[in-house]
Amino acid sequence: MCSQATGSQEKQSEPKSHPSGRAQAAGARAAGAARGPVFPVSDHCDGRVFFNTPTHINRTWLEVLRWKRSARPGPWPKWVHVEQQAPVPAPGGGAVALTWINHSTFLLQGEFGALLTDPHFSRRAGPLGLLGPVRVHAPGVAFEQLPHIDTVLLSHDHYDHCDLASLRRLARRDDPLVVTPLGNGALVRRAGLRRVVELDWWEEAPELTGGLRVTCTPARHWSNRVRGPRNGRLWGGFYLKTPSRRIYFSGDTGYHESLFSTIRSRLGGPDLAMLPIGAYEPRWFMQPQHCSPEEAVRIHCEVGAARSVAMHWGCWQLADEGREEAPELLEQELARCGLAREAFQAIKPGESLVV
Ligand code: ZN
Ligand code: ZN
Repeated sequence: MCSQATGSQEKQSEPKSHPSGRAQAAGARAAGAARGPVFPVSDHCDGRVFFNTPTHINRTWLEVLRWKRSARPGPWPKWVHVEQQAPVPAPGGGAVALTWINHSTFLLQGEFGALLTDPHFSRRAGPLGLLGPVRVHAPGVAFEQLPHIDTVLLSHDHYDHCDLASLRRLARRDDPLVVTPLGNGALVRRAGLRRVVELDWWEEAPELTGGLRVTCTPARHWSNRVRGPRNGRLWGGFYLKTPSRRIYFSGDTGYHESLFSTIRSRLGGPDLAMLPIGAYEPRWFMQPQHCSPEEAVRIHCEVGAARSVAMHWGCWQLADEGREEAPELLEQELARCGLAREAFQAIKPGESLVV
């Protein structure tokens, strides 16, 4: 979980602010050198700890306290009724059907079979199913209604994305292949999933069924759970290429001026992007890790998406904005930029579209 997981981090050492990725790299390199690297050393990893470049901000406990003391959360209902849907039939002819289930969970169907992003069907987004915020709407598609899932894309270890209970259910029922950034494999295997591909940023998985190619893309975020080292598992997004479609799932990310144009120049503008619009207030705290709806529109433009769908809002209250503020701001920003509403839609849970 992105913001409120902070309450579950007491067992971790005190988080520190790092003014630059270089400074963090130097410090962590010194600490990691004695034990030897576990991951490839790169511009975002010292061998053991991952970081964003050129700057990586770890919030201090003082900052968390400052946020919580001054927080004036906007309104969130206790429950929002959602009409659960049966998944649409898998399309043919190279098309891809997308269904939003909740938060960052999407069902994608195409000639590659059925795929889920960050599958989360549990009540709470937190450790042990006992802590963390409670969902305010049912999944748009019930777990039991899902088609056989061939592939899971897991973007990072936060509790609102990596739900071990949902992964366990999928492992037992469908035994899917999981594609995830470096360092998440052991966590995923704990849920009983046997087939796991771990990728570094810009690395591509071996070709999947239906000619699906999956590349892990950089994101500006971080990672942490109750157990395991802070930033010891990589976070990221995924860029999917089928023989006829390009689809981008950003994962959780803050905005950065060159990141998304780089993704576009290396992989091409996607036919469809899934971009986060929620958990962005207060900006002074959230900006390095979560984009606002205005920034999401910039990402949509800079990554060159033909159309985008909003995610990471409406299910769990993770930050201070009210539940309806994110889609409202998204609409205002589209109008301000002269973009059609259809260019970047906040669809309902259970709603589908075909590209
Ligand atoms: Zn998140
Ligand atoms: Zn996160």
